[in-house]
Amino acid sequence: MTYNETGTIRKNWRGRVRVVLVYPNTYFVGMSNLGFQTVYHLFNQTDDVVCERAFMPGKSGQGKIRTAESGRLLSDADIIAFSLSYENDYPNILTILEKAGIPRLSCNRGDNHPLVMAGGVACFLNPEPIARFIDCFLLGEAEALLPSFFACLYDRGIELNRRRNAGFSDKSGFLNHLAQNVPGAYVPEFYRTTYHKDGTIRSFDQLCDAPAQIERVFLKDLSHIPTCSKLLTPDTTFQEMFLIEVGRGCPRGCRFCSAGYIYRPPRFRPVSLLEDCIKQGASLTDRIGLVGASVSDLPGLTDLCTRTCREDIRLSFSSLRADALTPELLSVLKQSRVKTATIAPDAGSERLRRVINKGITEEDILSAAELLVSNGIPNLKLYFMIGLPTETPEDVEAITDLCKRIKSGFLECARAKKRIGEITVSLSSFVPKPFTPFQWVPMDNVQSLKKKIKQIRTGLKGVANVRVHADMPRQAQIQALFSRGDRKVSEILSLADDNRGNWAKTLKAASVNTDFYLYREREPDEFLPWNIINHGVRTSFLEREYKRAKQGKTSPPCPMESCNACGVC
Ligand code: SF4
Repeated sequence: MTYNETGTIRKNWRGRVRVVLVYPNTYFVGMSNLGFQTVYHLFNQTDDVVCERAFMPGKSGQGKIRTAESGRLLSDADIIAFSLSYENDYPNILTILEKAGIPRLSCNRGDNHPLVMAGGVACFLNPEPIARFIDCFLLGEAEALLPSFFACLYDRGIELNRRRNAGFSDKSGFLNHLAQNVPGAYVPEFYRTTYHKDGTIRSFDQLCDAPAQIERVFLKDLSHIPTCSKLLTPDTTFQEMFLIEVGRGCPRGCRFCSAGYIYRPPRFRPVSLLEDCIKQGASLTDRIGLVGASVSDLPGLTDLCTRTCREDIRLSFSSLRADALTPELLSVLKQSRVKTATIAPDAGSERLRRVINKGITEEDILSAAELLVSNGIPNLKLYFMIGLPTETPEDVEAITDLCKRIKSGFLECARAKKRIGEITVSLSSFVPKPFTPFQWVPMDNVQSLKKKIKQIRTGLKGVANVRVHADMPRQAQIQALFSRGDRKVSEILSLADDNRGNWAKTLKAASVNTDFYLYREREPDEFLPWNIINHGVRTSFLEREYKRAKQGKTSPPCPMESCNACGVC
């Protein structure tokens, strides 16, 4: 299959370590992911490595999966590396292994099979639900992990020979060496989980000299390392947009958001480096996207906007806080002919926004909406979550009320501009994520979530120019199961694969009690499946934040220096 893209890396396979980097979703989804592109480039930076990409075929895709670059089969590789960002892609891992003729369980593979590894944010949140399918995980940021992984591979795993293909002679010995010597490497076969009678985890025991906990590995300093698009294609969400990562993590500490905790401390790149990246991007395309969990917190963003606000550059931002709209930012948005701006109030009421530590007021939200529209941006997208901890019927009603108030101010400004656009209200079901202050809370059930969506739809029905878009609570439930589960949950993935993705049949047949993972409040001292990883954030800090949430108290943002509040620095 030929893809319409630039930036493809083609290398000879002979005498090199052969890696197939797999995104377990379609080309369109995978290529929209900057992390996936970055890892592709990092693998290929080593001369002794050839890395090609593979994706899930679209709905009509039949037969074997082949690499994008040379059309080779996955089974020809030494290493199959899965890049995992979303738990809902987990079932595709099994489909891909099956199509490649590789046993799904790690324990059934031998030296003649490729090493199956995985990395990406979903893994360093909680690798346990897929632990039985993966030979080794690399937990943390690829730039910091790959050099020591390859050093170990050359030392103990693979003998490079220019005349013949490389390969593993003692995979198990290599994994042993990896687990003991490479920080961030997690080899599930060297750990055994034991359970209490009630199904909670009693212990997580090492079966060899592997570390008791796996440290998340990250780059302490991003100031000299740019992360930008390596391939450009019209076939992504961003359509030939050159993406630039401004930083990692977010200082705000919203209590529902894992990115605000697992990427601590928040790190931003200097404006001078980002300006160079923008110049590089502008030589390839006129569309530049600044991405990150917290773009509007970038120190010097106003300066960067002023320096790069040019006719031939259309700059856009992946996230902007409602309280961060400066005249310079608005002028860039205007110049870039941005048609739709996104505001994320996340909750409808002031009370619930305090519970989640959102840190913005209704006034901020209303004034941001009016500013955007009066600066010529015709459409607004509003993000809300339903099913948040402590949510009441009044909080759900408050979403409808807030949308109506935003609409009324929006309309006034739009009339003045003689251009009336549209407001899209996007509703997502809250999933309690590992390593957040809400990691102990139960998830709302599907019926209740559906009722809330219906209530909001009814409340906004007939309001002109307002559209409601809601995710499917059943999908959110599956996401929650795979983000909160332990190793037993892998049975569900195997069953789903056997049942060709029929979830109703799978959940009915599974011996695993899904309610146990979804709807149970965890005790503060319970050993959670993801406790195998150490992200550096103290559990006592998360516990304190959870208590403050229940009291409706907010906490200040992470100061990003000179503090020891959460334990990371
Ligand atoms: S220790 Fe302080 S500065 Fe460091 S990440 Fe935690 S809150 Fe931020």
